[in-house]
Amino acid sequence: MIVDCHIHAWKYPEHFNKEAMLANQPQRRHAWPEEKFKAMWDNPIERYLEVMGDLVGKAVIMGLKSEQTYGVNTPNEYLASEARKRPDKLSWCCCVVPTEKGAPDEVEKCVKEYGAVGVGELGPAYGNYFANDRSCYPVYEVCQALEVPVFIHAGPSQPRRLRMKYGDVLAVDDVAIDFPRLKIVICHMGYYRYEDASFLLCKHENVYADISWLASLSGLERSTLPRYLPTVNHPFSHFAYPLLYHLSQTFGDTDKILWGTDWSASPPRESIEALRGINAYLKSHSLPEIPERTIENILHENWKKVFKSF
Ligand SMILES: [Zn+2]
Repeated sequence: MIVDCHIHAWKYPEHFNKEAMLANQPQRRHAWPEEKFKAMWDNPIERYLEVMGDLVGKAVIMGLKSEQTYGVNTPNEYLASEARKRPDKLSWCCCVVPTEKGAPDEVEKCVKEYGAVGVGELGPAYGNYFANDRSCYPVYEVCQALEVPVFIHAGPSQPRRLRMKYGDVLAVDDVAIDFPRLKIVICHMGYYRYEDASFLLCKHENVYADISWLASLSGLERSTLPRYLPTVNHPFSHFAYPLLYHLSQTFGDTDKILWGTDWSASPPRESIEALRGINAYLKSHSLPEIPERTIENILHENWKKVFKSF
């Protein structure tokens, strides 16, 4: 079964702090009518269900809590209710700001009572905290005890109000050392700090990565290129390189990379095609190819190492 380990769903305007959201937008959008913002942001789960078809067996909905910086805050009740619509096709991860006092109790409640299969996506740069801040530790403690993974967007991100210092991928090193039984998934393979993320995967048995969003960022999904992509689209930097770099230096388990789309960032069909088409790209550039088995494991197998149950 192919599992999309990282998708999103949210509602506009219900889950948005408009002032914070606007602060990250170019000035020309500030006068947009509400319908345009709704068209840009509204992301109900039904849209994903339409495109996942039979191709994707199951998808995991992630939350995001960034009320004051990015301007999005998805309530856990909403995520749970979206996942409940199609329990055969959807699971969910609860989201918290781990530095907040009630966060460990919220995680425990979501996992035990509402069936969350993990925690995420935690966004240190989205919430102005470091992933290794000691005030986050009670949340990691609960995740480790409940045997649920934590998905961390550990690297930086583009919105201008997010502070890059908090997107320090290396902060995951402390968490992995201090919680050796906690499964940590570095989202987007640490974008753009791929080498640091890769080293953490090699160094720590309990650290994994997802490649969500990268296929779209790399421009490999030619039919669906979003307009924000760079002027020169080249699949090397953000797709071929992170995978090749990791597979060329890993000295342990090579199967620690999970597939995901970060929907609505990437559509699943095109993202799978991009991954399965990577060897054609590598070959045409005289680059080393990735074993087919490694590619299929990214799609079908590696998620089993992270999630205890669905
Ligand atoms: Zn995400």
